[in-house]
Amino acid sequence: MLKENYTIELLNLKGFNVIRTAGNVITICLPVKPHICPQCKNETKKIHDYRLQKVKHLPVAHTSYTILIKKRRYRCPHCNKRFYEKNSLLSKYKSISTDLRKSVLYYASKLFNTKQIADICNLSYSTVVRIIDSIVIPKSTVFPDVISIDEFKGNTGGYKFQCVLTDPIKKKIIEVLPNKNSEDIYGHLANNDIKDRLKVNYVIMDMSNQFRSIMTNCFPNAKVIADKFHVLKLANWAMEHIRKQEQKRFTDTRRRYFKKSRFILLKRRHMLKKNKKTQLSQMLSISTLLKKAYILKELF
Ligand SMILES: [Zn+2]
Repeated sequence: MLKENYTIELLNLKGFNVIRTAGNVITICLPVKPHICPQCKNETKKIHDYRLQKVKHLPVAHTSYTILIKKRRYRCPHCNKRFYEKNSLLSKYKSISTDLRKSVLYYASKLFNTKQIADICNLSYSTVVRIIDSIVIPKSTVFPDVISIDEFKGNTGGYKFQCVLTDPIKKKIIEVLPNKNSEDIYGHLANNDIKDRLKVNYVIMDMSNQFRSIMTNCFPNAKVIADKFHVLKLANWAMEHIRKQEQKRFTDTRRRYFKKSRFILLKRRHMLKKNKKTQLSQMLSISTLLKKAYILKELF
């Protein structure tokens, strides 16, 4: 086991405190210091929470180390913004340290082949390919005022899902992103000139936190709008949850009937034919809870 001060020096972790060393796993954190709030520019030292993140780091003398970084989030008491402290070990959305990425690129520049780099850096072949591919020349894209991002099942390039960036006003595709990996989407979008990105005022997307965080970082001026389709889906899910729960109390025949007729509950009331409306009233008269859920769904 390495001594603590050696560890810091050998692994180029200057500025970090070592909390624990267990075999090749080293837990580190940064000392607390005042940070400037990225939103209102006031200073804060208030800690919001911590998250432990596993980071792949440089092998030293043919030994690989796993770094567990206790990432701290500060909270701004003026505007309530929560944000991560800056650290030199790792860039946003990455799980491989900056030093390790640099080594991969160094060996690639010395014309080592991918397999050799993977062996030296103790990374998988595909990770090395991804790191090398991430080096692209900054580009300029004319972004419209409103953009929309969504994933779709495409099955290309070895990835099940791809993402598509569109202009919802002109109904045009801006770009298809090769997968839905946070690191890749962020790398891809952040590679566009900040002047172009600042022009986007609205981003329409599903309700995933993953996309939200990437998009607000890439398009700092944009307001995030939840896609109507995804919001409605949630309202329907919530009502369906109540239907399933209520059905459990019913006899087998009635349960089957409710299951088979669920589209009557899901469809908007004004779109139902007269006989279906009667059927709906009968169904809702059986369960007060379902009736409540249905009214909420329709109101929504
Ligand atoms: Zn603030």
